[in-house]
Parts: sequence; C-alpha cells; structure tokens
Amino acid sequence: MPGRLIASTPLSPSSLTVRPLDGAGPPIRIFFFGGARAVTGSMHVLEVAGKRILLECGLFQGRRREAEERNRYFPFDPRGIDAMILSHAHIDHSGNIPSLVAQGFQGPIFATHATRDLCAIMLRDSGRIHERDAEWYNRKVRRRGEPELQPLYTEAEAIDSLHHFVGIDYGAPLSLGPSLRLELRDAGHVLGSAIVVLDCDTGRRTRLCFTGDLGRRSMPLLRDPSPVEDVNILIMESTYGDREHPAVSSMRTSLADVVNRTVARGGKILIPAFALERAQTVVYLLHRLLEGGAIPPIPIYVDSPMTADITAVFKLHPEHFDAEARAFWESSDPFGFRTLRYVADVEESKALNYLEGPAIIISASGMCEAGRIVHHLRNNIEDERNTVLIVGFQARNTLGRQLVEHRPEVRIFGIDVPVEAEVVDVGAFSSHADAVELVDFAKSCRRTVEHVFLVHGEEPQAQSLAAKLRSAGIEPVTVPQAGAFHDFQPGDVADRRASA
Ligand SMILES: [Zn+2]
Ligand SMILES: [Zn+2]
Repeated sequence: MPGRLIASTPLSPSSLTVRPLDGAGPPIRIFFFGGARAVTGSMHVLEVAGKRILLECGLFQGRRREAEERNRYFPFDPRGIDAMILSHAHIDHSGNIPSLVAQGFQGPIFATHATRDLCAIMLRDSGRIHERDAEWYNRKVRRRGEPELQPLYTEAEAIDSLHHFVGIDYGAPLSLGPSLRLELRDAGHVLGSAIVVLDCDTGRRTRLCFTGDLGRRSMPLLRDPSPVEDVNILIMESTYGDREHPAVSSMRTSLADVVNRTVARGGKILIPAFALERAQTVVYLLHRLLEGGAIPPIPIYVDSPMTADITAVFKLHPEHFDAEARAFWESSDPFGFRTLRYVADVEESKALNYLEGPAIIISASGMCEAGRIVHHLRNNIEDERNTVLIVGFQARNTLGRQLVEHRPEVRIFGIDVPVEAEVVDVGAFSSHADAVELVDFAKSCRRTVEHVFLVHGEEPQAQSLAAKLRSAGIEPVTVPQAGAFHDFQPGDVADRRASA
C-alpha cells in the first residue's frame, strides 16, 4: 500500500512558507487560495499581527484529477497556521479540515457551537465517502496494475479533527492575541452560520469582515444576517451576484402550488435537498402548510439518514431559530408530524419505489449527484404526473443542473432517460443572498470600506456583482484569482470614521 501523501506543493511563488512573520513586510496580507472565481474549496489565509489565520478549509469539488490535486496538497504548510476560523459547516467550507489536521495543523478551529455539532456529523460522513471512493477507484486500478490511492481522509481522521474545534457564541468577542480580536455574527445562511469580524490593531485599527456565505432576510427558521458596521476590508461571497431571487414570501405559495398541482395529477413530488438547512426548511414549511390546510395530508418521506441526523442537531439549537420558529417550537416539533416519516434503512427506501398515489419524497444529495435521490429520479422521472422540485443551487456538470436546464433527456446510472416529469426550480428557496441583498450588505458598511474582495462565485457572477458595487459607489472591488494575495500597507486603510 502506498503511504499517505503529505508533501505540500506551493500554488505560487508567493507561498506562505517563504515569508517570516517577524514584523517585516506589510501589516496585513490576505491570500485567496480557494473559492476564488469558483464556488467550492473556500480557503483564504490572513497574515496579521504576527499570526497566520486560515479562513475556511473547504473541499474543492470538481473533476476527479483536479479535485485530487487541490484537496491533497495545501498551498501552504498546515503546521505554519496558528488558528483557523470556520464560518459554517457546509463541506465546501469545512470539508478539508481532516486533511489539514492530518498534515500537521495544531491550532484551534473557531466556529459556533452549532457549526461544531454539524461538523461532527458532516465530516464523519465525508470521511466515509472518501473511504468508499478510494475503494472503488482502487478496485479499478488494481486490475490494470496501476498504483492505488489512499482515501483523502478517513472517518477516523475526521473524528480526530473534531478535537480542534472551539465553539464560541455569536456576538461574544474573543481575543486571538494582543492586537487581534474575533467576533462571529449571524449570517442567516444555515444553522450556526457566521459572518467573521476581525479587529486588528496594526498601528491603526482595521476591521476585516468576511461574510462566509450570506443568507437572505426573512428566511424561515433562521434569523436575518446581522449588519456589520465600520468595516475597512470586506471579503464577500458572490454566488448569485448576477441574479435577483423571487421574494422569500413566495416560498410558501410556490411550494403549496407545486404540491397541489401534482396531487391533482396523482403524481409524486421529488425534492432533492441538501441535508443541511434546505431539507429542514422544506419540512418546516410543509408542516406549516399542512397545519393551515393549504395542502392535503399526503405521506411525506425524508429519505436521507444524514438529514435525520442533522435535524437532530437543529433540535439541540432552538436558540438560533427566528422568533416565528421559536414560538412554533414551543407548541410543536417543527420537524415532526403525523404524515411525516424519516426513512432509515435501505429496504424501506427501496419500498418507496412501489408507493401508490401521491407522496412527497425529500432526499439527498442536493445536486442529484449521489445518494438515494438518484434512485428516486430514475424511478419517477419518466412519469409525466410527477414533479421534481429544485430548491437549491445546482453547480455545472451535475444532474441537478441538467434538470434545471430542462434537458429532454438526462443520463442516470449510465442510461439516457427521457424527462417527462415536470421540473420546477423555486429560486426563492436559495439560502444565499441575491445581487440586491449583497449590494445592500456592502452599502451597510460603506462609509469606511476601503477595499472589497469578491469570492465564492463563478467568474461571471462575481464580475457582475463587482460592476453593481462600483456603480453604487463602492470601490475598489477585486475579484481575486486563486493563488493571488493582497497587501495592505500602513495608511492604505484610512480612518474615515472620524469624518463619517
Ligand atoms: Zn454554505
Ligand atoms: Zn459555500
């Protein structure tokens, strides 16, 4: 068996390993290593106040060879990172933490308590997936006599990495050193998601704000994103930088319409949903619709063991719910009711193939790339009575994206299948702010903002948002390339607060 690969190959000559942190050089340097002109693999490094801080350690998801390369080799030495800050539990932000720890990172990982609890489930699951993946790959290469691969990380390594998590509360400032202070604020994106606020005293007070993934206002379950004032350096996501979502208020009616229309045809509704947040939002809304008599009491199945596990974490953190959900929680379980069933074992999942009459099946994965939803699509997509309800972001080259694009035929398990079912894409369910909401967020910190960096967006979306920010008078805006860094010299960040 080959050994684990632990060598680091620098992405660029500007690799962190070449710069001593001895006070020489610019007081603030930010590297954009991942999630730059892309949505997955978020990873930025901040050098400030004698510390090297990693913001996110996301899994890069894409074509196998590139993903292998990017996920196995960090563009810096993990042993040289003092601390990590994690905005939320999604795998594109947290999914490479076990590799970071396995390759020598020894510091704390700061995140909210809910994020830590969610990572305990999601990183373990990710470890199991990497083990299965490597097994599948090795079976293939063994026959050809080619070298085998170790999993990117194992379930055991994922569990080990949990030791590094330090849970902190929203709005409770934490000192990371004599001139560096961290605070997490509500991001309104998923349970436990945070906006990262770093106050650095490098001769002049500089406030850096990293939005992580920013949610929408008035979303069910979650509180709204918190405003952040007096920001000097803003690193903002741009997933939907070119788009305006339908109003959040249209969510309930869209969902009720789809359910009623499909039930009238005698069909089933398949909802591919991310196990974190989207599935709980859909279940909660269905509960509210049912209770209000807006939809009939048809059977609802949540066919994803991981969704069931994550739902249990939601029940542990009602303190993060918005006022409406909290009031509802006091009288009933938002995620459990008579017609709802969480499907655990595979046999029961297979039995859903033989269901007669209308039903709702909520299953993962959210982009239809793997998991039980693929089987349900295979079984139901050729029936024109059925509906596939898309409630989340669908990346390029995924089955979900092909459905959203209304392709007449899609390939499932190697077979071309005609799409006869209705496909409905309900944009209102997005857990990411749209262009208007992103510009509003930047405006709310405008008077002091000296530089905006747009990350976590494909290039057209990021550039489109950059143009919108500039026309709103917010400049300069940079859409950094992966591997780029930016220095802030003393005096770059003017203290305009006095005049503001
Ligand atoms: Zn996210
Ligand atoms: Zn993300």
